[in-house]
Amino acid sequence: MKDNLDRPHTPAAMARMAETLSLDLGVEYDARIVSRRQLDRAVERCNDCADPDGCAVWLDDHAGGAQEAPNLCPNKALFDHMRDGW
Ligand code: SF4
Repeated sequence: MKDNLDRPHTPAAMARMAETLSLDLGVEYDARIVSRRQLDRAVERCNDCADPDGCAVWLDDHAGGAQEAPNLCPNKALFDHMRDGW
């Protein structure tokens, strides 16, 4: 079994986005739907995001959940991949 400590630290916005999309990054990682490299790059993109304020507004507007990440999210493709990966 993989150790969750092996996963990179997830930025708060990325964790909140995953939660809004009903995705568990730990489960996705353990199931090898996403690799460590993919998560590392997603963390970098989130930390460097050009529109964190827009993200916060979108997350507030979708507090009840959403089917897909917004187009403004540079990690949308990865979130879509996780959603469709099962
Ligand atoms: S929109 Fe930006 S800040 Fe929000 S989760 Fe995506 S990458 Fe992170």
